[in-house]
Amino acid sequence: MQLRRQRRSAPRAAPLPDTARSAGEDFGRAEIHSHTRASDGMVSAEELVRAAADAELSVLCITDHDTLPELGAAIELGSQLGVDVVRGEEVTAAFPPGVHLLALFIERPVRMHMSPVDTVDAIHDQGGLAVIAHPFMPTWFASMSPRGARALLEERAVDGIELRHTAPVLPRTWARLDAFYAAHRERAGAALGSSDSHFGAHDVGRVITAFPGRSAADLRRAIVERSTSPLTRPGARGPTLRMRVEQQYRSLVWLPLERLSGRVGRGPAQRR
Ligand SMILES: [Zn+2]
Ligand SMILES: [Zn+2]
Repeated sequence: MQLRRQRRSAPRAAPLPDTARSAGEDFGRAEIHSHTRASDGMVSAEELVRAAADAELSVLCITDHDTLPELGAAIELGSQLGVDVVRGEEVTAAFPPGVHLLALFIERPVRMHMSPVDTVDAIHDQGGLAVIAHPFMPTWFASMSPRGARALLEERAVDGIELRHTAPVLPRTWARLDAFYAAHRERAGAALGSSDSHFGAHDVGRVITAFPGRSAADLRRAIVERSTSPLTRPGARGPTLRMRVEQQYRSLVWLPLERLSGRVGRGPAQRR
């Protein structure tokens, strides 16, 4: 099957061409990383679910920053529209400056500002999957550097790494990331792609994780078995400049105030 063949023969993790459905392959499309107004996203969870359905995604992981919102209505809407909604969180670890790890398939919030090792342990202790989010960005915050990722993987294996994402990167970053993945495949888990969606219909599903099957359980199995592939979808429209500016305010001013006030980030401490 094409998905598996690509993974074995392509250590550079070239994104799959989006031809599998027309070729009769049965694989699902997942957005594994997305935000709502519970953190710095610009849409409600229900709007995001509708956008995911319009983008022909069968699984949507909602991963707000340092918070695990109640998603009952979104999960119910998803079941009507054929979208499995997975509860997750984008956890800020190693603060300052803070690097981002995704916790997928969790039921309780994971506390922010722990070490990356403790964060991965806290995710695994409740049966969740830990994913390195948007690595190798040229920023001093939010993103794991090659050195940071190596240090984490020496201590703990993770369940996946975003090999393709929509965050700004320098030239040659994808090649460096692919080389890193080839060298650390045993410990870095599944090859994943995400849009890191903050704008609902404007950006959900631009970069997806393709996986055998359709359901959330299929996605989980595929991550564990490493039969996923990142897939960039050409032609998807992005948010406008005005939307980006408004979102930046939410991200850089409003959300830090929420953290300071303790309204987000208060998961239970990790005991070692
Ligand atoms: Zn992030
Ligand atoms: Zn994010």
